[in-house]
Amino acid sequence: MSDFLTRFAPSPTGRLHLGHAASAFHVWKAAERAGGDVLLRIEDIDQTRCRPEFTVGILEDLAWLGFEWADTPRIQSEHFQDYDRVVERLSELGLTYRCFRTRTEMAAEAEAAGLAPGSPFTGQPLPAELEAERLSQEAPFAWRLSLDKCRDYLGPDYDRLSFDVRDLDGQTRIEKARPDLHGDINLTRKDAPTAYHVACTHDDALQGITHVIRGTDLEDAAHIHVLLQTLMGWPTPIYTHHPLILGPDGQKLAKRFESQSLASLREAGLTPRDVKRLAGV
Ligand code: GLU
Repeated sequence: MSDFLTRFAPSPTGRLHLGHAASAFHVWKAAERAGGDVLLRIEDIDQTRCRPEFTVGILEDLAWLGFEWADTPRIQSEHFQDYDRVVERLSELGLTYRCFRTRTEMAAEAEAAGLAPGSPFTGQPLPAELEAERLSQEAPFAWRLSLDKCRDYLGPDYDRLSFDVRDLDGQTRIEKARPDLHGDINLTRKDAPTAYHVACTHDDALQGITHVIRGTDLEDAAHIHVLLQTLMGWPTPIYTHHPLILGPDGQKLAKRFESQSLASLREAGLTPRDVKRLAGV
């Protein structure tokens, strides 16, 4: 029995493209080398962007490439209650607060504080009276994780948070976690019942994932994932980040590059072997 279990976790917001294929080749190659298994997870929590027909497309494209996964795929949109329980637990621990700010308010606050747009956000709960008023007006809000509270809760352990990073050659190093890169993350969103960091860490734990292999675009995610894992008492997998395939503009491939979709490459007569060569894995 191998102790290596990894996953491929695409979001069905479009057809898979060459970049996804490269990621999948990295995932399955690592599992094959270790004699382990791969699970498939459909990360479709954003119901405004994800569509069931793209999930069907993902299964079709992966099967065409010859990938096999253990077990039936986990479809995140069927498990929102699981993610609610995570937020409830973190709230019971006193680590969350409701954030009523709109995007515009947040941008204005950041500007007033002299921060660059998109800087990590840290905030405070509203004073109780104001919060009660907003709630009575049914104002929408998102739950956020308070890094200040997490720091108090974990004490010296907060500064000792770390995770193992394994490069593609198998060399492992320990990286100190910097949750501050993310600020007070959203645990829910005004327009979605959960957020990526919650659903992803919950499922990695539930599915017993020992190794996470994903692109360098998600390199920073582990810094907040290890905090959530520690707060929830979940194990931290080993993380590997593979290079991304870049488009002609030097940017990472996006699903809008229809010409690069696996479906269109297949239609153009390419074989799975050709795709593997193009993916360079
Ligand atoms: N669903 C994410 C994506 O498609 C991947 C998340 C992960 O591997 O943790 O980019």
